[in-house]
Formats: sequence, structure tokens, C-alpha cells
Amino acid sequence: MIELQGITKSFSSLQVLKGIDLTIDKGEVVSIVGPSGAGKTTLLQIMGTLDKPDTGRILLNGTEINRLKERELAAFRNREIGFVFQFHQLLPEFTALENVTIPALIQGVSSGEARRRAVEMLEFMGLSERASHKPAELSGGEKQRVAVARALINHPSVVLADEPSGSLDTHNKEELHRLFFELRDKLGQTFVIVTHDEGLASQTDRTIHMLDGRIL
Ligand code: ADP
Repeated sequence: MIELQGITKSFSSLQVLKGIDLTIDKGEVVSIVGPSGAGKTTLLQIMGTLDKPDTGRILLNGTEINRLKERELAAFRNREIGFVFQFHQLLPEFTALENVTIPALIQGVSSGEARRRAVEMLEFMGLSERASHKPAELSGGEKQRVAVARALINHPSVVLADEPSGSLDTHNKEELHRLFFELRDKLGQTFVIVTHDEGLASQTDRTIHMLDGRIL
């Protein structure tokens, strides 16, 4: 599903990634752990095509990312990659349902079909009752589940999550983690999750330990 070969990245004189080779299979839930500053977020951003490596190749579902032009890359990213961040990043002026439809509308899906998919996704997340609520009217756990629904609306190859439960209390955290594994089991969804949560990391199929720009 994902293949990274020889990825390096520097920010001015600081080399943050020092040659990363990594393969992730379809249906795997992989966690990336390591101390602050190890390069985890930078690696995830590069995997998600939000940032470019200085050297190295990235293959995502058979497509070599480096070869795509900016417009093709934006469409590819919207279709193939779902993102979940620590802070939900939902648009405050739109309802939960509308937020979930957005990536599908960008993809050119009709509004009726986008709505149908969003209703189905929110139902899967146990949020049907909350569909017409705006983010400010939702709890932290609900907002994060709406963000997961939004990440999944285009049936992406992979969901990349950066500290997805970092701002949640224990109950909501455990509920969100359970959801990831349920999505893996029912839909074969692939996840790469940067986390400081040892409980989550211990449940994933594989844990990648990073230190100082390298995989240990
Ligand atoms: P982690 O996620 O493991 O905490 P990051 O990938 O966020 O690590 O950061 C790794 C290092 O790169 C840190 O020293 C950070 O300050 C630096 N860094 C990250 N992004 C940038 C940027 N856009 N510009 C300059 N330095 C950055």
C-alpha cells in the first residue's frame, strides 16, 4: 500500500529524516512512536504528500508520487489519503454532515451521493443523531469521530492520523481506538497513526520506533 525508499528531509541546516525505508501493507494498523522531535509528524506529512522529501521515492497504492504534477497530486491526495489530526479541524460554520461531505464534493461526487455516503459514515460512527449539529455543539469525542468519518468518505487507501486521541479523555480515547480497529476489521482500512499513547501502540499490528530521524 505504501512504500518509502531512502526518504530524507532537512529544514535549513537541521536534518529531520535521515534515510527512511518503510513498507506498509493493506489492512495494517501501524503506529509510529518516539520522543518529541524524532521526525514522526514530518514523516507522516511526507507520506500524506503534504510535504516533499529532499530525496527518496514514495509509492502509494502503486502510484509514484514524485511523478505527479501539483494538480494531479491534489486530486490524488483527496481521493487516496484520509487525514485525522489531533484537533479535529472541522469547519465551524458547517454541520457534522456537511463537514463529512466536503472531500467527496471536492472529488466531484454529486451532492446527493456525497450526502448518502456521509449519512452512512455518520451512522457507522454512531453519530446519526448529531448529523445536523455544528462542531461547537459536539463533544470532543464526537468531533473526532466526525473527523474520522470525513477522512473515510472517499474510501481512501490509507488514513494517516497524527495524535488523533491526544486531546481526548480516557473514555473517548478508548472509543476512538476501538473504532480504528473496527474499521480495519470491517472495511480492511489501513491506518498509520503517530501516537504517544502506549495503550494504542501496544494494540496495533506493528509499532515503528523513531529516534533522531531514523527508524530503530
Ligand atoms: P515529532 O513529530 O517526532 O515530534 P517533527 O517531525 O514534528 O517531530 O519535528 C522534527 C524536527 O523538525 C523538530 O526539531 C522540529 O522543530 C523540526 N521541524 C518540523 N517542521 C519544521 C518546519 N516546517 N520548519 C523547521 N523545522 C521544522
